[in-house]
Amino acid sequence: MRVAAQLSVSLRARGPHNRDEDRSLTSKTLPDISLSAPWVTHREMDAVAEVLSSGHLVQGSRVEALEHRFAALTDTRYAVATSSGTCALHLALLAHDVGPGDEVITSSFSFVATANSILHTGAKPVFVDINKETFNLDPDHVAAAVGPRTKVIMPVHLYGQPCDMDPLMDTATRHGLAVVEDCAQAVGATYRQRPVGSFGTGVFSLYATKNITSVEGGMITTNDARIADRVRILRNQGMAAPYKYVAVGYNFRMTDVHAAIGLAQVDRLREVTSIRQRNAAYLSAAITSVKTPQISPGCEHVWHQFTVRIPGARDQAKLALAQAGVGSGIFYPTPLPDVPHIRDIVPPSDLPTVREIAGEVLSLPVHPLLGDTELERVAAAVNRL
Ligand SMILES: *Cc1c(COP(=O)(O)O)cnc(C)c1O
Repeated sequence: MRVAAQLSVSLRARGPHNRDEDRSLTSKTLPDISLSAPWVTHREMDAVAEVLSSGHLVQGSRVEALEHRFAALTDTRYAVATSSGTCALHLALLAHDVGPGDEVITSSFSFVATANSILHTGAKPVFVDINKETFNLDPDHVAAAVGPRTKVIMPVHLYGQPCDMDPLMDTATRHGLAVVEDCAQAVGATYRQRPVGSFGTGVFSLYATKNITSVEGGMITTNDARIADRVRILRNQGMAAPYKYVAVGYNFRMTDVHAAIGLAQVDRLREVTSIRQRNAAYLSAAITSVKTPQISPGCEHVWHQFTVRIPGARDQAKLALAQAGVGSGIFYPTPLPDVPHIRDIVPPSDLPTVREIAGEVLSLPVHPLLGDTELERVAAAVNRL
């Protein structure tokens, strides 16, 4: 019941019902505005209790149901649940036969898990520079980075905005490469009406801070029955049938407890996304002191982060916002190729844009539990910088 206790604390502290109470607090000390907050309700708690009393705790009907929901929402034939987004990335690469001697082209600007999943397979990540406006990898740089050892292109839909998929898919098709999309931050986003995770093999994270969560969890989506089979086998000890082992597998299974939470969250995905979009639209209109993020043509942005650039004064800005009670985040302070354990393996390359941008980005609160007064406070604090 530790989980339930924790969930009820966060529900009381920042549940949607608190929105209207915000105004009454203005005369007192205002509470800090957090950068992110999990939105959990009694639906999640009841779903967990139901699984625990059912006696079937791991990889049962809840996991299967969550897989079906993900296949439907990404418009793909198969979805396979895992215990995290990181192991989902790892399995997706293994299913595409990525291993030592291979290269995977990916963005230089992402969470470290993107690079680690490539390193876990023994392959070499090849980092390409990003576009200043979208923060996503630049398709021209991807095309230029293709070499004889390239096996996979791994675009990252950063902050909830899809990458420019048409030129990326062209490059992949031209060279016979697989595409593994890191959709960890972009559940529900679309590019030219098509859901992310349906272009190549899609990988999602259901970690606590993502747009929807199972607390910890991941999902792989694909239209390829062979890839779906392989990841299913690899996530469960390499077992193709009871006690028939066909590969060195892993224990990357999702539990039914986590899946039950994920199912309650998927039910709210549309609502969560539209509140984030509304919050982002408000901030874009109200913030006048810095340039606000752009939505690329043909993209539906799901606003995992609302990220501005503050050249030369980012760290001071973060401090000033904190003093005004506004939380903010830096995603990410270090380009992936400059992370020490990665720099030791992959020789550094010339990536001027990401090295500039990593010192400027600052993400502001945009999560669905923000009330109107809180959004106003965020915008006012940014405008005072
Ligand atoms: C969160 C995240 C991951 C890893 O997901 P986990 O579920 O935390 O393992 C991978 N890539 C990106 C871009 C992420 O934001």
